[in-house]
Amino acid sequence: MSSSFKQGIHPRYKEELTWQKPLQKAQIPEKVIIPLQQHIGAPCSPLVQKGDKVQKGQKIGDTEGFVSAPVHASISGQVKEIKEIRLPTGERGQAAVIESENCRAKESLEQLKIPFDPESAAPEEIRSIIREAGITGMGGAMFPTHVKLNIPENKDIEYFILNGAECEPYLTVDERVMMEWTEEIIQGMKYIMSALKVKKGIVAIEDNKQEAIKIFRDIAADEEQIEVKVFKTKYPQGGERMLIKAALDREVPEGGLPLDVGVVVNNVLTAASVCRALKEGMPLIERPVCVTGEALEEPGNYIARIGTPIKDLIEQAGGFKSKPGKVIVGGPMMGVAQPDLEAPLIKGSSGILALPRDLVEVSAPLSCIRCARCVDACPMHLMPTKLMNFVKEDMIEKAEAMKLESCIECGCCSYVCPSRIPLVHYFRLGKAELQARKRDKDE
Ligand code: SF4
Ligand code: SF4
Repeated sequence: MSSSFKQGIHPRYKEELTWQKPLQKAQIPEKVIIPLQQHIGAPCSPLVQKGDKVQKGQKIGDTEGFVSAPVHASISGQVKEIKEIRLPTGERGQAAVIESENCRAKESLEQLKIPFDPESAAPEEIRSIIREAGITGMGGAMFPTHVKLNIPENKDIEYFILNGAECEPYLTVDERVMMEWTEEIIQGMKYIMSALKVKKGIVAIEDNKQEAIKIFRDIAADEEQIEVKVFKTKYPQGGERMLIKAALDREVPEGGLPLDVGVVVNNVLTAASVCRALKEGMPLIERPVCVTGEALEEPGNYIARIGTPIKDLIEQAGGFKSKPGKVIVGGPMMGVAQPDLEAPLIKGSSGILALPRDLVEVSAPLSCIRCARCVDACPMHLMPTKLMNFVKEDMIEKAEAMKLESCIECGCCSYVCPSRIPLVHYFRLGKAELQARKRDKDE
C-alpha cells in the first residue's frame, strides 16, 4: 500500500504531454552561457578569459569556498566574454559566454582524472570526484553534492533515500530517466551509499509512475541493501521532509536537516551524474530537461548542454503554438517565470514550461474569507493567513515567531486559496526581508 505525509494538495498533473516521450539529444548549441554560480554557496571565479579556447568538459570556474561547485565548458569553442546576466532563478551573476567554432564534429571531452578504482574507493575519494565534476542537486535545490555527503563526525547516517518522487505537475524528466538510465542511477546510488557508509537505501517513487516502479522493483529484488517504497501521488511529496516522513516516519526538526534524523536524500538525476563522473570521468555538462506546456507545438524530454539558451530548447520543441502567457523554468508550483528567453539552462533546471494565456490569466485577488483552506493544505503546518498579515504589515519579527522561515515555498496555500491571494509571494518577500535584517544586525 502506498503511504504519504499529512496535508499537501492534488493539482492537475498534466504529465500526459511528455511522460511517454523518450529522452532525446537536443542539438548542440552554437553558443552557451555558463553561469559561474549554479549552486547554493560561494560563486566561482573564472579560470578563463575572453579569447581563450576551451574544450568540452574543461573546468572554467572554481573557488576555494567549501560550499560551492566548479563549472565546466559544455561545448568546445572560444570564450567570447564574461558578463553579468540574469539567471533563470531570477538572481544576477557572472557567466562565461562560449561560442562554438564549427568544430562540433571534432569535439572531444576533457575527462576528469580518476586516480583510483571507484568500486573500492574511500568516501573522501568519491566526494573529491563528485566535487571536481561540479555535481549539485539536480532536482532544483542545487546544493553541492560533495558537501551533502560530507557528514559531521557527530552524526550517524542510517538511510540514503533516492528521490524519484517528481511531484511538480507537468514535469516527467525524472520518470523518463528512471525508465531509461536505471543502471546508472542504481550504480550512482551505490557510490553515494559507499561515500556515506550506509547499508540501507530506499528508492522513493510516487504511485503514478508504474513503469518506473516495476523496473526498480525488479532490480531491487537482487539487491539486498536497496528497497523500493511507493508513495501516494501528492504535492509536494518530493520535498525532503515530506519524503522522510512518508518513508521512515521521522520528522526533521525545525531549522534542522535530514542528517539530524540519520538520512541523506538525493535526486535520481544526481545519482546518475555521480555514476557518470566516477565511471566515465564525465563532469556535469549536460542534463535531461522536460520542455513542456500547452503553448508548445511538440513538448518532449531532451538531454541538453548546460548553458543552452532557453529559446533554443523551445525551438527544438517545435516553438510556440501561439504567444505564451508565461514561460517558467521549473514546474508550475515552484518554478520561476522568465521575463525573457535568453536565460541559460542551469544544473538545477528540470523543466521549461510554456503556458498559454488562458491558463495563466488571473483576476485580481479578493479579500481573505477565513476559510482556512490554506491552513489545511500547508505541509509544514503553518498558518498562512496570519503569516501573510504579519508580512503585509511589516511585522517581520512576529512572522518569524510564527515560523516564517519554516515555509518551504511549495505554493500549496496559494493554489487552494479561493480568493486567489498569492500567499507564497508574501512569504518569499518576508523571508528575504528577514535575512536582510539579520545581515544588517551582524554587520
Ligand atoms: S508556501 Fe509555505 S505557507 Fe504556503 S503551504 Fe507551502 S510551506 Fe505552507
Ligand atoms: S485560503 Fe485564502 S481565503 Fe481562505 S483563509 Fe487562506 S488566505 Fe484566506
